[in-house]
This record gives sequence, structure tokens and C-alpha cells, in this order.
Amino acid sequence: MYRTHTCGELRIENLGEKVTLSGWIQTIRNLGGMTFVALRDRYGITQLVFDENTPEQIKNQVEELGREFVIKIIGNVVERSSKNPKMPTGDVEIIAEHLTVLSKSEIPPFTIENETDGGDEIRMKYRYLDLRRNPVRENLELRHRMGQEIRKYLDGEKFMEIETPYLIKSTPEGARDFIVPSRMNPGEFYALPQSPQTFKQLLMVSGFDKYFQIVKCFRDEDLRADRQPEFTQIDCEMSFVDQEDVLNTFEGLAKYLFLEVKGAKFEESFPRITYDDAMNYYGSDKPDLRFGMKFSEITEIAQGKGFKVFDSVEYIGGIVANGCAEYSRKKVDELTAFVQKPQVGAKGLVYVKYNQDGTFKSSVDKFFSPDNLKSWADFMNAKPGDLLLILAGNKNDTQNALNVLRLEMGDRLGLRDKNKFAPCWVVDFPLLEWVDEEKRFFAKHHPFTSPKTEDIALFDSDPAKMHANAYDFVINGVEIGGGSIRIFNAELQQKMFNALGISTEEAEEKFGFLLDAFRFGAPPHGGIAFGFDRWCSVFGGSESIRDYIAFPKNNSGRDVMIDSPSVVDEKQLKELTLKVIK
Ligand code: ASP
Repeated sequence: MYRTHTCGELRIENLGEKVTLSGWIQTIRNLGGMTFVALRDRYGITQLVFDENTPEQIKNQVEELGREFVIKIIGNVVERSSKNPKMPTGDVEIIAEHLTVLSKSEIPPFTIENETDGGDEIRMKYRYLDLRRNPVRENLELRHRMGQEIRKYLDGEKFMEIETPYLIKSTPEGARDFIVPSRMNPGEFYALPQSPQTFKQLLMVSGFDKYFQIVKCFRDEDLRADRQPEFTQIDCEMSFVDQEDVLNTFEGLAKYLFLEVKGAKFEESFPRITYDDAMNYYGSDKPDLRFGMKFSEITEIAQGKGFKVFDSVEYIGGIVANGCAEYSRKKVDELTAFVQKPQVGAKGLVYVKYNQDGTFKSSVDKFFSPDNLKSWADFMNAKPGDLLLILAGNKNDTQNALNVLRLEMGDRLGLRDKNKFAPCWVVDFPLLEWVDEEKRFFAKHHPFTSPKTEDIALFDSDPAKMHANAYDFVINGVEIGGGSIRIFNAELQQKMFNALGISTEEAEEKFGFLLDAFRFGAPPHGGIAFGFDRWCSVFGGSESIRDYIAFPKNNSGRDVMIDSPSVVDEKQLKELTLKVIK
């Protein structure tokens, strides 16, 4: 037997028991005649003690031990003379009677401690060692808990978990596919699913009115901290529902997870913001609602006073930073430099300090009277002591830049606390998005998303104005999920394809199976998919989804541990009738 207890289990109640423990050696401390060994497993650490009474043979064994050796120990639980209240097992220690080295270890390439000396690269290469560290293991524990609770909740709501295939053909999410050559069908390829979208819709046609799956999805995109080439979705679909039903069902799931996993209780409904409002007030379709600082547009009241920069632009808007009127020249200059960075893209920054004594000081005093400035301040709901930060330019770019500035000010003012959660729904997305380089519309969500009934007539007159029954779920400025009510009628689907410049033949070739299915009685349906890795990272308070994936890839899409992707041998290529062009 390798163990009677785990390394996190023994307490003062166990005094006098003879126990067997197995685990990894965290530390060895030699203090004169005594040696203390911290033995670690997934559950915790227990102290082993070797002193003058330890049999000679064990003493000799202890001298040979090193960090990360795997050992088994049989011994007696005794009370510690100097207790460690920080450790759950800190009241006791084990006096060893028998020690077995199960496995030796080389010196690990970095310290297996909460704060390690290993850089990113080396920890990725030895990910299995990194996973031994508490913070990394805790992240996976959080992920596990989330997965279990999600299944529990959805099962309780009568959702069925159904697997869909990985070797399929292109799906409609609009990213680049990973493709897999078929040996048995030379010259032909599978695509890995960007999502199970078409399959879950087929399941609705089959009558499984509530489906979910915690499922891998694959998208060949450029990577960032919150993107991986393979990632996991909580993919869901329901029949006989409208948008309201879907939002309510999954708001239920979200509230359940908040409560069970984070202990956060949400009594009220989550705010719902239209896409247009989200853009106008926050410059983003994933607003961080942990703090206010909404944009105010002052184009009308700020133009016509002879300030050329303002008079020539489409949009003038700003935010109010509470209590920042005292900002020094240096700080304001810093902010100006910040908004002028290419990633932010503003030309300049206009500031107005609304001083405590009611006077104004601004970067545009030459053009605007204190009365003018007061009218802006009043319009923007500023109080004495506040700082107004104003940007001007074309509407889209300026709102984008204001969004970045707002988040920056939120950070500076400590308004983006990781332990505070502000969920919301963004609704009424546009149906289509014009892409100039391709001179055509793309589906904002995907081609199966249904337009708002009242907008269908616009297909022929003004498609850009159409709104969709599409929604996103956002927490703290991070898009956690998105979905839509689907088109379930072949005629409307054809109109949608037409608007996207997809010919009947092309639609038939790509999605014929789905269009066929719709001819055999398709129920009205809709759904949503949540980014599981992202949801975990937001709950865990991290910006990187990698921290919540056991074996993630680096920014170039490489798994540096197993060294993949890698070349395959000629024989394999030949079997696949493939040639690599160098
Ligand atoms: N398949 C969609 C996505 O991956 C989600 C959905 O519409 O349910 O974004």
C-alpha cells in the first residue's frame, strides 16, 4: 500500500496513528541533528522529521534524498513542538520508521514553489513540472469545479450532452480552418470544427431540444493572451425558444456558477445593453461595467467656437475622471502621449480641469470661455474636482480611442478590481458588417443568425441597417460568450446567403446538408457558446487563458514541450499523396 492518507490530511486528531504517506520532496532542511523533510502531493504538505532516534539506515537514506524525489514513508504522527498555523497539517509531523525511494529526480530546471525562478519559456517546456506548483494546480482545480457545476446545472435543466465529430468540413465561424488530409480519400481533406455550430443545429432538427457540450474548437488565427488555436467552448442549443428564453436560461447558469464557484450572489437581472449603446457609451461591444465613466458626446455644444480641430470633425466626446482635477502637468502629458500611441490612435487630447473652487483650467482656454467649459462640464455631469478628457475625430476611431483611455483611467483609479464582477448582456447586434477590402458584407455573428423580424424587409433596401437576434455575454469587459436565434427557413437562409454574396451553388456545396435538413421540419431554435477557458480565467482573476489550460501552446502556436508542430516523414506524406513545397 502506498498511502493511508494524503499529504494534506493529517491533523492533531491523528496523533499516535501509524500512517503511510507518498509524495514529492518539496524541501529538505538540515538543522544540526535534525532533518525536516516537507512531503508534498496535490492535497498539501506534511512535515517528516528525522532526529537522533532515527535508525541509522534511514538516516543514510535521508542523506541521499533530493528535491522532487518521490518517496514512501511509514511512521507515527506526533505533535509538533513548534506548530505552523499557516499549514493545515501544521500541528503534526511524522517520525519515520521506514522510508522507500520510489523514484529519484534530477534537479528541476526551476523551483517548484508558488513564486518560481523559472521564466515562461522554460516552464512551458517542462509544463508537467509547472503543473506541480500550487497556483497552476489551483487554476486547473477551478476549471474542474466549473466543468462539474456546468454539467450539474445543465443536466438539471434537462440539457443532454451530445458529442459531435472533430473530422468535419468547414464551419461558418469565419476564421481559418485547420485541415486534415484524408489517406483513404486522396486529395481530400477534413476541417477541424471552429465550433459544432452546424451539428448542434442538426440535433435540433433531430428533436434534441436542449443540447450542450463542453467541447474543443479549433481556429487557425493569430494568437494573443486570450486566444489559443484549440480552445474549449460550452456549446449550447435549444429549440422552441426566442431570444428571451435563451438569455434567461443562461443567465440562470451564470448566476449559479457565480454563486457556487465564486460565492457571489446576483439577485437582480444582469444589465442588457444594446450594441449601439455599448458603442456610444463605452466604445466597445464588451463594456467593462465595473465602473461608470460613460462617454458623453459634446459635438454640438463644442463646435462653432472657432477651434479648428473641433470644427472639422465628425465626433467630439469625452469622459469624466472623478477627483482628477489635481493631475499635474506631467500626468496630463503622459495621458496625451498614451492616447497618441499607434494602438490608441488619437491625434491629441483636450483636458479640462474643473477645479475645486469652481474655476476651469484647460488645454483650450484660448478658444473657449469658462462659461463654455462649464456647459461641457454640466453636460458631462462633472463636479468640481473632476477632470474632463476629450477626444475628437471620426466617430468610430474616436470612440475606439476613448474606450482605451477609459480602461486606462479605470486602471489608474483602481476601478477594475479583479474580485468584483460586472456581468452584462449585449443585445441587438448588427446582422452584417461591411468589409471594405473584400467589398462585401460578412455576417457579424455567422450566416445562420436570424435578423430581427421587423428588419427583414431591409434585406432589399438597406442591409447595413439590419439588426440580428444575436447577443453576447460579457463579464468585466471580457466577451465570455455569444449566440443567436437561428434562421430555420430555407428561403430566409437563401436571402442571407445572397446578402453575403454567397451563391446558391456555393451555399449548397458548403452547407447543403443543413439546408436539406431544414426541408424536413426544422423547429425554431437558438443557442449560445461560452469560451470555457476565458470564463475560468475571469473567475480566476487572470488575463491569460493559458493559465487555465493544462497543456497550452505558445504565441507561435507551438507546444514547446512535445515540440509540435513538426515535420513528418516522407512515407507518411506519400500515403497522404502530399508534397511539401520548400
Ligand atoms: N457557434 C457560435 C460561435 O462559436 C456560437 C453560437 O452561435 O452558438 O461563436
